[in-house]
Amino acid sequence: MQSHGFNAAHAPRVIRGLLAAVELKSRTDFLLPEKLDEQLKAAFAAEAGSLAQKQVSADGTAKLLLRLRDGRTVESVVMPDYREDRAAGCISSQVGCAMGCDFCATTQTGFERNLSSGEIIEQFRHLRREAHATGRVLRTIVFMGMGEPMLNLKNVLAAIERIADPKLGAFGWRQITVSTVGIVPGIEELREANLGVHLAISLHAPDDATRADLLPMGRRFDVNEVLEAADRYQADSGRITTIQYCLLDGVNDALAQARDLARLLTGRRMHVNLLRYNPTGLSLKGRSYLPSSLEQTEAFLAELRAHGAIAHLRRARGPDIDAACGQLRRRAALI
Ligand code: SF4
Repeated sequence: MQSHGFNAAHAPRVIRGLLAAVELKSRTDFLLPEKLDEQLKAAFAAEAGSLAQKQVSADGTAKLLLRLRDGRTVESVVMPDYREDRAAGCISSQVGCAMGCDFCATTQTGFERNLSSGEIIEQFRHLRREAHATGRVLRTIVFMGMGEPMLNLKNVLAAIERIADPKLGAFGWRQITVSTVGIVPGIEELREANLGVHLAISLHAPDDATRADLLPMGRRFDVNEVLEAADRYQADSGRITTIQYCLLDGVNDALAQARDLARLLTGRRMHVNLLRYNPTGLSLKGRSYLPSSLEQTEAFLAELRAHGAIAHLRRARGPDIDAACGQLRRRAALI
């Protein structure tokens, strides 16, 4: 504010207004003097990203492609919740990704750069407004879009602190989940930051061989190391860890693998979120992964539960749009 010649005392109101779900002008509590409002818009317009593309699925899922100031693009998603007044958001932390998960579209175009905290917050603003425009309130966000949040944790934490600050975004800490492919030092750093956000682990296989084949990071941190780091996070934060498990036909969906997963979680307060795979074409290793059949998915879920695991099947979202992470961006780059 000062460097643009404005009174810094107005900054908190301006930031609250930016993070609100609705336009400044309709909120008297955020209202700024008209002249200042116009000056601010003119001064900062060039610094904001813009909405380059939007796809809306028949199920209400909206995928946003945001163009950043340097011309690069990132994806964010808003999904209607089961409750008709609520929505959930998915936010990216990097442009591209270096993790090389074999079934993921994002990693196929490689890693370009980290997002700044401002660019992360900007996605949150777009999602909040998008939810609001459809009569819903954005209730939860998860850092599970493009990129690995633990490799850009400084900016992710700075963004979360502003999004959750009662005087700024006023979004609860418990409404935020940080998802990782299993980078143990990042989980430790998140624990030390002591923010009380939820942790999700993309496990995708109960054994090291299958996991390392799907996720190169599995060669660096084995399943036990990752789960032990999650145990420590849970002990300090009190939050129940979510285990993300994307079911791939003939790869990780055998009933024996369900039993192994349930065994791993015995004695742990963790919750398994089974995901339906959205095919993305040929993988990095030249494979064509397919989603598990509905029968196998249900059998896997039943086997997990029969062996004591708490597990749910997440509804597939946006099957009629480029719903998988990185798909819309890749298609936009081709056009
Ligand atoms: S699944 Fe996530 S961590 Fe893995 S390559 Fe894709 S964006 Fe990166």
